[in-house]
Amino acid sequence: MLPVCLRDDNERMASSHRHPRLRTVLDALAGSEQDRAVRELIDVLGGPPVSVSERLIGAPPVRSKRLRFASGGEVFVHDGRVSAVILNLVPTPFCTGAIDLSEWIPGVDDESDLDAFKRALGPRWHFAGGGMRCFPVPGGYVRLTVRRSRLVSVVVSAEDPKLGCAPEDEDCEACSGIPVRAPDGGPDVDASIEALRSAVSAGLLREETSWVPLADLRRLHDSGLMAWTESQAVCRSCGRALCLHLPRDAQPSLEYLPYDAAMRRPLEPIPPVALWGDAERIAAERDGMRYVDHEPGRWFLVERRGEPHLDARYSAGPYVDDSVLVRLDEAELSAYRRDGHDALTALAERIAGASPWTDESPYRARDLYRGADGKAYRDAVSAAIRNHTWIAEQRRPR
Ligand SMILES: [Zn+2]
Repeated sequence: MLPVCLRDDNERMASSHRHPRLRTVLDALAGSEQDRAVRELIDVLGGPPVSVSERLIGAPPVRSKRLRFASGGEVFVHDGRVSAVILNLVPTPFCTGAIDLSEWIPGVDDESDLDAFKRALGPRWHFAGGGMRCFPVPGGYVRLTVRRSRLVSVVVSAEDPKLGCAPEDEDCEACSGIPVRAPDGGPDVDASIEALRSAVSAGLLREETSWVPLADLRRLHDSGLMAWTESQAVCRSCGRALCLHLPRDAQPSLEYLPYDAAMRRPLEPIPPVALWGDAERIAAERDGMRYVDHEPGRWFLVERRGEPHLDARYSAGPYVDDSVLVRLDEAELSAYRRDGHDALTALAERIAGASPWTDESPYRARDLYRGADGKAYRDAVSAAIRNHTWIAEQRRPR
């Protein structure tokens, strides 16, 4: 069942009176192409469509049908039901026409500001990922797509755009070819892992280091130690997260999700490598960065081959949070051996207080994240602390 925004019938009728064409769109949501409401919508869009394309999304697959109209409208049908409608306000490669928004939502056009939309659609709105604003309206959601400071389309959907991917991303050339499907419709796990790793190597996707590494996914799943294992990779073009999910006792799946929704999916702590890795993997873990301790929101202590490193968080103004990574020097090591956890909290405070992003700070030159191997250090620390971050705590199944 799709989550929709419900209000009482009086409000629905009042809205219908104010926005007759928008009402036509909302009435068509979740309907089949044979339904009267959907046929009415297609008439209003100037149907029949100038092009119809179909694709499978994810595994088990959702069958998506995309109908494009000369007027600039597009209708998306998922498994036989209308899931979203795009009103393109500028011509696209497929539609030379463009929608006159004022005919669909009285009181606004493609030059309108947020206040005008609030007057037209109601004062409530929220962000729907990618900085897009979304208005809940009776029977669905209205999302505004802004590119280069220009309103280019309005997307009307049954599902809250925070929870589902933008329909215009379905044909993303970088990621829509994944997964590889098995004959039963589910993902061919090994082939899909390989496809994801290839796309990461090609720079099309970015592997999310706070989930199970793709390289470990199969072995960890086969160990049976976790109720489910999951790897995630994010498309660098469209921003969707591809979530390859392997439950211990159920069929695997590959789902596309908005980044924010994907990062909140549940995951147990990943068991120690010694319990499931082969000799090579265990050796790599022994030689790699290892979590030792942390103070929530402030610092992580990791170590490699007996050398402790402190990842200390700082704020450079109200909008910039980052961290530095320093190898503990002799004095810092002595303090740590003497005072333990408290010595690291004091050191993290000294680092944050010394504006470590400035040239004057003694910690800037020591910051390993700024060195030639900065990315390798970040990846190694992210992997080491993946079970201990704030978001990992939020993901714990409750
Ligand atoms: Zn993509």
